[in-house]
Amino acid sequence: NDSSPSPSPSPLPPPPFKIPPIKFTKLFINGQFVPSLSGKEFETVDPRTGEVIVKISEGRKEDIDVAVNAAREAFDNGPWPRMSGVERARIMMKWADLIEENAEEVAALDAIDAGKLFHLVKVLDIPAVAGAIRYYAGAADKIHGEVLKASREFHAYTLMEPIGVVGHIIPWNFPSTMFAAKVSPSLAAGCTMVLKPAEQTPLSALFYAHLAKQAGIPDGVLNVVPGFGPTAGAAISSHMDIDKVSFTGSTDVGRAIMHAAASSNLKPVSLELGGKSPLLIFDDADVDKAADLALLGILFNKGEICVASSRVFVQEGIYDEFEKKLVEKAKAWVVGDPFDPKSQQGPQVDKNQFEKILSYIEIGKQEGATLLTGGKRVGNKGYYIEPTIFSNVKEDMRIAQDEIFGPVLALMKFRSIEEAIKGANNSRYGLAAGIVTKNIDTANTVSRSIRAGIVWINCYFAFGNDIPYGGYKQSGFGRDFGLEGLHKYLQVKSVVTPIYNSPWL
Ligand code: NAD
Repeated sequence: NDSSPSPSPSPLPPPPFKIPPIKFTKLFINGQFVPSLSGKEFETVDPRTGEVIVKISEGRKEDIDVAVNAAREAFDNGPWPRMSGVERARIMMKWADLIEENAEEVAALDAIDAGKLFHLVKVLDIPAVAGAIRYYAGAADKIHGEVLKASREFHAYTLMEPIGVVGHIIPWNFPSTMFAAKVSPSLAAGCTMVLKPAEQTPLSALFYAHLAKQAGIPDGVLNVVPGFGPTAGAAISSHMDIDKVSFTGSTDVGRAIMHAAASSNLKPVSLELGGKSPLLIFDDADVDKAADLALLGILFNKGEICVASSRVFVQEGIYDEFEKKLVEKAKAWVVGDPFDPKSQQGPQVDKNQFEKILSYIEIGKQEGATLLTGGKRVGNKGYYIEPTIFSNVKEDMRIAQDEIFGPVLALMKFRSIEEAIKGANNSRYGLAAGIVTKNIDTANTVSRSIRAGIVWINCYFAFGNDIPYGGYKQSGFGRDFGLEGLHKYLQVKSVVTPIYNSPWL
């Protein structure tokens, strides 16, 4: 029976690790943890078991209004936009230190809330959060305009001003790094903000808010309001007093946010959306290393990563050997409890995501793709899924076109470089791409021909605070990270004044 759970590998028993008690469950508005105005709460669930971790205050439109008022007041009259960049940086640096000091506790929050591997969150996500805050803190005192020589009649210059009150809406797959990607540049720019974490993963954002207060970020500058998309999220995107929305999430919701922004106060939006990223492996690749890269590309964070290499194109000369190695490695991949250091893959974030992935696996079979390995749930409890590989995938199949957002890889064969480029670009998405080759001409040609916001050559998931990252096509627009990630929270004001022989004088 295809739908019966796989007996092996089954979730490993977690080692003794004391998950700290959850301290913050209320909305963080104007520097205080407060219950929602309606008094309503929602449950956040542990994907290892499907059991409720804790109840969280549910923010809705009226709570967003209160949070926006606090952010507005902090922007219009508070110290944050008025202090020097150096002072903002000093406070942000302190916040980064506090986050590192609490790395273990906050990593545990992401592990129980999102099913992320505890040991990886500790060494990757939390240092990345602190690193992003420090990177943008370092930029805070280097934000300046230009002196212009418009004509002999005018003296002119530009000011780079903070855009104002920002609304951030983030997804659940990287609760910590998404938080940092949005909050750190907008803080450095001098903005104030309201952030809505995903309803699946509110815990770490509330913890970071508490540390922000300890570090000295003034009340009202950073407000965190957990809640659902159609209520709290929609209240942000349609708010008349929010000056910009920065969103990361699915393409469909991105579209809804753009509509809401357009039909309210025409606030600018930036959208980091979904992907179906191709990894192209050429005949001259080291097959063993390429198979490791392809596996990492789809299985890291259980495939719940927008840049997952979910379409792998392999050149015909090495295809058979590659396929064999990939399947062997996938079978050896350890699915298990996120607190077990041996685990390579934890549970999917929630029941919805779990069921969506399993239904795509069924679609793949019905479409006629060959299931090489995986395809089933692991164990009887929680939301674990086997690493799953399909071959004989046609480019127009749904498993090759839709973002599955799980550990499901579509393997395809190509002959020529032209065919590889055409296949890679045959997608409505354009977030990322990878190339594996020793040939510099191939690497150069392919990287310039692929329509994607980031191209990795002989690596994958190589991120950096200084490396801008975002989408082409329906993967969105606007960039997170790098100085582009800062500029979207700034606006240019030109100041013009007549000089000595101007007719205006
Ligand atoms: P989602 O779009 O369902 O939700 C994202 C956020 O939007 C959540 O906070 C949600 O509550 C909110 N939301 C939902 N409906 C809303 C509405 N009508 N108005 C305002 N806000 C609303 O996405 P998800 O399932 O949380 O995350 C997975 C998606 O995110 C994938 O498509 C993935 O590719 C994408 N993603 C993209 C990037 C990137 O950088 N491009 C990074 C991570 C995730």
